[in-house]
Amino acid sequence: MQRRNLVVAIDGPSGSGKSTVARGVAQTLGLRYLDTGAMYRAVTWLALERGIALDATHRLVELATAAQLALSPDPGSPTISIEGTDVTSAVRGPEVTAAVSAVSAVPGVRSAMVARQRQIIGSGGIVVEGRDIGTTVAPDAAVKIFLVADPAARAARRAQQDAGGTLVSAAVESTQADLARRDTADSTRAASPLTQAPDAVVVDSTSLDAVGVIRHVVALVDKVVSP
Ligand code: C5P
Repeated sequence: MQRRNLVVAIDGPSGSGKSTVARGVAQTLGLRYLDTGAMYRAVTWLALERGIALDATHRLVELATAAQLALSPDPGSPTISIEGTDVTSAVRGPEVTAAVSAVSAVPGVRSAMVARQRQIIGSGGIVVEGRDIGTTVAPDAAVKIFLVADPAARAARRAQQDAGGTLVSAAVESTQADLARRDTADSTRAASPLTQAPDAVVVDSTSLDAVGVIRHVVALVDKVVSP
């Protein structure tokens, strides 16, 4: 396996550290980076912007199929725009976070996104993060990671990230409730739910820092890539 054809799939629940790890692995190995969650978030942002109800599934599918989406694959500064608007920051807002699981559960939205994701992946040379990469989007990925961490650690990390680096305990509680709600929605939906691929390597980041996890994943890649 050549590095230019390599696909590294990183799946796992919200707040397990996927983005930090996926970007770090891509930077270390000189690969492209794709954040599939940002794509579902961008479609959700546009639906909210246009006042489309979350249960108007046919309109959501139309939007997901027709919208112009552009992503920069640079792991150093990934950006995403939809219909010409840069929404890199906007898609992280609480309204989008609250609505995204409903939008991503719509089968037609998923098939439109998966088709675009496969196009971006092309012949490889990329680290892809999401919920269904190892199972559905890139089942032939040479390296599949399922990243987990205990709920309290995930909530603390995510709350600290959202508050720009400060740890506020009240925020941790509400973040943990929000993560639990999204985990349940993402794991129980009918269309490609969050599940571990049978051939994925489970990495628990509860007591490992990002550098440790990145090193571990890079070592797994080194085993399958020819020098
Ligand atoms: O990874 P992130 O938390 O930004 O993803 C936002 C949401 O997008 C998830 O909660 C999930 O509902 C959806 N998602 C998905 N499939 C993916 C990536 C994200 O359903 N491959």
